[in-house]
Amino acid sequence: MAKRGMLIVLSGPSGVGKGTVRKALFETGAADFSYSISMTTRKPREGEVNGVDYYFVSKEEFEENIRNGEMLEYAKYVDNYYGTPLKYVNETLDQGKDVFLEIEVNGAMQVRANCPDAVFVFLTPPDLMELEHRLIGRGTDAMDVINKRIKKAVGEIRMMRNYDYAVVNDEVGKAVERIQTIIRSERLRVTRVMPDYEQMIGDE
Ligand code: 5GP
Repeated sequence: MAKRGMLIVLSGPSGVGKGTVRKALFETGAADFSYSISMTTRKPREGEVNGVDYYFVSKEEFEENIRNGEMLEYAKYVDNYYGTPLKYVNETLDQGKDVFLEIEVNGAMQVRANCPDAVFVFLTPPDLMELEHRLIGRGTDAMDVINKRIKKAVGEIRMMRNYDYAVVNDEVGKAVERIQTIIRSERLRVTRVMPDYEQMIGDE
C-alpha cells in the first residue's frame, strides 16, 4: 500500500491574495501535488468554470452534502457556503499523493482539528509585519493608533498562531517560492520518511 500523502493547507485573512498565490503556484508547472477543488453556493464569476475553479452547487445540494458527512470542512463566507469534499481528499491521499487546499480560516481550523498532521501555511499581507513592529515599539501608545483597520489586522495576526508557517505575500512569485520551500522541507520530516525505512528494516 502506498504511503499516505501529505495535506497542505493554505489559508489567511480575506483579501490577502490566497487565490492569486494558489493559481500562480499551480501555473509554475512544478506543483507535484493535487489541488482539491472546493464546492460553493456562490454564483460563478465571469470566466469561472464548473469543476475547474469550483463545483458550483445550490444551497440545498450543499446542505445535503453536509448532512451526509461528505465535507472535510466547510464555512459560510459572505452569505455563501464554501467547503472541501472529503472523498477526493481521502482518495488522493490514499494514493500517496499530496493534496493542496486553499481555504478561509474557519475551515482551516476544522481541518486542523480533524487532520493534525496536515501542514498549515498562513499567507499574510506585508503591512501586518510592519504593524506588529509598530505596536511593539510604541507600547502604551498602541491605543492611539488602533483604528478599525488596525483592530482587524491585530485579529488577523492572532490567527497566525494556529499555523505552522507564515508566508508574507509581498510579491506573488516570492510567496510561491516560499511555499514550495515549505513543502519540500515538510516532505523530509523524519515522521514522513521513516515509514519507508521501517518497511525495509522491519520493526524490532
Ligand atoms: P471567492 O468567493 O473569492 O472565490 O472565495 C472566498 C473565500 O472562500 C476565500 O477566502 C477562499 O480562500 C475561501 N474558500 C474557497 N474554497 C473554500 C473551501 O473549500 N473551504 C473554505 N472554508 N473556504 C474556501
